[in-house]
Amino acid sequence: MLDVQDLVVNYGAIQAIKKVSFTIHTGEIVTLIGANGAGKSTILHTISGIIRPTSGKITYRNHPIQREAAPKIVREGISQVPEGRHIFPGLSVQENLQMGAFIRKDRQNLAQAYAEVYHYFPVLKQRCHQDAATLSGGEQQMLAMGRALMSHPQLMLLDEPSMGLAPIFINEIFEIIRAINAAGTTVLLIEQNANKALAIADRGYVLAAGQIKLQGTGQDLLANQAVQRAYLGG
Ligand code: ATP
Repeated sequence: MLDVQDLVVNYGAIQAIKKVSFTIHTGEIVTLIGANGAGKSTILHTISGIIRPTSGKITYRNHPIQREAAPKIVREGISQVPEGRHIFPGLSVQENLQMGAFIRKDRQNLAQAYAEVYHYFPVLKQRCHQDAATLSGGEQQMLAMGRALMSHPQLMLLDEPSMGLAPIFINEIFEIIRAINAAGTTVLLIEQNANKALAIADRGYVLAAGQIKLQGTGQDLLANQAVQRAYLGG
């Protein structure tokens, strides 16, 4: 579904991503783990068209997207759930969800999209008329995921969904990611919580200082001693 080849991203003189290559097959959960500053968010922003790569190719369903504008990339089926949620305060939960659907031309299917989101996140239905700013951190994460689902993505990019959440919410969020994937959405999951991310991933890549250092199945990486020492507190 997605093929990233020799991706290089510079911020001025800083080379943040140094020839990174990886693939995502349809139906997979792929995780990219790595410490603070390893370059995870930069890769996500480059796929979603927010950052232009310096060089390299990003191929989505057999066509290059590395020069495409972000709205076009969303229309083609890639939707990002940003780090820190970035929900719209002052708008209700339902209005926030509506914002996620603004690129859709098939307005007649919106009722089904809301129903799907409320199926995964019943609490959002209970609070649909509430100002989104009054939600807890975990509920805001759910809203950010629901907003991304409203565009009916084929590939969902999740940037650190567990960050800053209480353990009970973290478990719930990971279960819901698994359920969304089981229903047919391919997932690229960026996480510092390597344990949880690798446990639900089909495959994973370990990123350090802008380069991929290791790759394997989620289970292989969980069992890898270098990964355990560096990322799993082993
Ligand atoms: P985190 O988990 O802290 O979000 P990350 O793995 O997502 O980290 P990035 O945010 O992609 O890492 O950052 C990769 C590198 O690029 C870091 O060295 C960071 O300081 C640098 N960087 C990120 N954004 C910018 C920017 N806008 N301008 C300059 N340097 C940047």
